[in-house]
Amino acid sequence: MSSSKELLQSVPSVDQLARSASANVLLEKYGHDLVMESLRAVTAQFREALLNHGERARDGRSELTMIRSAQTYLETLFEPSLKSVFNLTGTVLHTNLGRAPLPPEAIEAMTVVARGASNLEFDLGKGRRGDRDVHLEQWLCRLTSAQAATTVNNNAAAVLLVLNTLALRKEVIVSRGELIEIGGSFRIPDVMARAGCKLREVGTTNRTHAADFEQAIGPKTAMLMKVHTSNYVVEGFTASVPESELAEIAHRHELPFVVDLGSGTLVDLSRYGLPHEPTVAETLANGADLVTFSGDKLLGGPQAGIIAGRSDLIDRINRNPMKRALRIDKMTIAALEAVLSLYGNPDRLAERSTTLRLLTRTQGDIEAQATRLRKLVERVLSSNLAVNTIRCQSQIGSGAQPGKLLASAGLAIRPSDGRASGKKLEKISVAFRRLPIPVIGRIEEGAFLLDLRCLEDEADFIAQLSSLGLMDVEP
Ligand SMILES: *Cc1c(COP(=O)(O)O)cnc(C)c1O
Repeated sequence: MSSSKELLQSVPSVDQLARSASANVLLEKYGHDLVMESLRAVTAQFREALLNHGERARDGRSELTMIRSAQTYLETLFEPSLKSVFNLTGTVLHTNLGRAPLPPEAIEAMTVVARGASNLEFDLGKGRRGDRDVHLEQWLCRLTSAQAATTVNNNAAAVLLVLNTLALRKEVIVSRGELIEIGGSFRIPDVMARAGCKLREVGTTNRTHAADFEQAIGPKTAMLMKVHTSNYVVEGFTASVPESELAEIAHRHELPFVVDLGSGTLVDLSRYGLPHEPTVAETLANGADLVTFSGDKLLGGPQAGIIAGRSDLIDRINRNPMKRALRIDKMTIAALEAVLSLYGNPDRLAERSTTLRLLTRTQGDIEAQATRLRKLVERVLSSNLAVNTIRCQSQIGSGAQPGKLLASAGLAIRPSDGRASGKKLEKISVAFRRLPIPVIGRIEEGAFLLDLRCLEDEADFIAQLSSLGLMDVEP
């Protein structure tokens, strides 16, 4: 038995390792400082293993294996944190998975402006300073019939900016049935407070009447607001005031009527066989003075918040210094312009907008894909896992139409002995998440489900299946 001191002396020094031939490749690729850091980590780990486990910690360790560990350390360091995944959750617009996938036209447009200079804020006709909003305003006005439009970082910013511009230190009247929270951090009452406005709640959770609004209007009222109850449905004994009536009340008192549509959409989705979602044009036609909505929900574009409506109000919004802090960047403008231009031809929209294409995939088409993939997936899994094609239900996501589901299909993976404990299913789910392009499914009804609605890169999906850690999923 050697003493711990003798044991530790057998660990090669960082300098010794750095001088070895195999370290050269690492030095070339990662530079001196990071290679030294990795070698210090590897030698420290070796010393700790010797102290904990004695002599046998030396087994299998050589200078070469230590360099390899250093390489793994460095590769892990440089592994991108933000990476693409397969969204097989069944929720098409998944906020945690980046919402709307962009069409190729939008990606190309982003690349072009990212690469170099552009006329972002330069008027090419007049040869002087221009305005970044002009690139989007024409399309937005054409597609919504609004007089004017402006764009910010996201819809939360749009709501904040509208409130701060039109209702600072004044009251905003909202129905109690619409005091929503979205994704934990966007709550209408909190946004109001931060925008410097006073929320005046009227009605009850399930019923609000025109008289409730009428009675609440006073000298401090700045506007009436309607918030689309995106992520929940109030059912049963309910009443709410139609937009046109709210607009009429607001206008009789010379107040603006603002609608936060949340998702909103620019076309009537029922023409593509999807549940009807209020369009921006309809909401404006109902009398809204301003409408706010997201760029990356049903619209199928990049993260953005759009405000469309009366030009005098949009002018005031654009003059608010907060607008500068909330503005969108050139890549977002490029992507959004490309997506908006697809709406120019609604007949081809369902094939060209990636989001709409995924939402309109038929169950038959998805089922055929599931049948194609079933054997391939089963082949790479251990024999005590069974793979079945199933019918399931997708949802639009991002708060759009929470009550309406889309008929879909996919694969169900479960232990073939029929004993699907939560722990075993979690193990399967972990193995899929560990793939080079992580696959995100959902656990439901005693199986790990992969809803194939959003699987378009079938070849990439299949190619990486072989790296599924077979042992990891052994129940
Ligand atoms: C999603 C949503 C928001 C927030 O929009 P982001 O673009 O995520 O900032 C605000 N209001 C409603 C009603 C929504 O549905």
